[in-house]
Amino acid sequence: MADGQSRLEIMPSETKRHSVLRTLGLVAALASGCAQAQDPYVRERQTLLKEIEAMARETGAETGRAVFSTRVMAAMAKVPRHRFVSASYGPLSYANRPLPIGHGQTISQPYIVALMTELLDVEPGDSVLEIGTGSGYQAAVLAELAHKVYSIEIVEPVGKNAATLLQQLGYRNIETRIGDGYEGWAEHAPFDAIIVTAAAAHVPPALIAQMKPGGRMVIPLGPEDEVQFLHVMVKQPDGSILNQRSLPVRFVPLTRGD
Ligand code: SAH
Repeated sequence: MADGQSRLEIMPSETKRHSVLRTLGLVAALASGCAQAQDPYVRERQTLLKEIEAMARETGAETGRAVFSTRVMAAMAKVPRHRFVSASYGPLSYANRPLPIGHGQTISQPYIVALMTELLDVEPGDSVLEIGTGSGYQAAVLAELAHKVYSIEIVEPVGKNAATLLQQLGYRNIETRIGDGYEGWAEHAPFDAIIVTAAAAHVPPALIAQMKPGGRMVIPLGPEDEVQFLHVMVKQPDGSILNQRSLPVRFVPLTRGD
């Protein structure tokens, strides 16, 4: 009887535990289903991160950064690149290569985005200027790391698309505008970091003027359709510029308004 009673006691609680476990399992399955529905490419992004890490190691001697910082890699792991390209690319959004975004423009190769971000040494309190919003992807990566990102795009429909998407994705610390980035954004200067994501024949003087002392600029320099090089510039306390040449790259040209 006592046995029977204890069995009877055990049985319902066992049953309850099972049903609780089943419910928890169901909740977990639903939650992961929801997360998957919102972000179906978590795994692709993880694979991409491994590729970026491998490329960083291979190019470390030229870039001086064989290992990218945890903050930069976390930002790359978080930003949903597939939202910045046409939905028709699907998992190809996470291939480590540039992709067309319309109007003759491209979203940069993820490794290059990570490298340029790494070279900027962005701190949480920083104010960053980007020239060439394009898809808005690089701006989103920077917004994960900085206090504020200002981004300028010269092609109006491209800039408007990016602004709408960044709004939808909830990036409240990015301000965009349509205009010629050659002149920088004097109203919000000086900047801790400036990134130019189109190739210039020379460094726009306004951008040098808008760097804080100790501030950094990453810019591809070189003629259109020829080899360009990524340059890293650091403004010294006396205002002079330390210029280091990094990797050969290929960017769309920095065009001029009017
Ligand atoms: N950073 C972008 C990729 C940029 S592609 C991304 O993450 O997707 C280069 C962009 O620079 C193009 O969209 C091009 O229209 C823009 N651009 C070219 N010249 C410019 C200029 N003078 N001022 C602002 N944007 C410019």
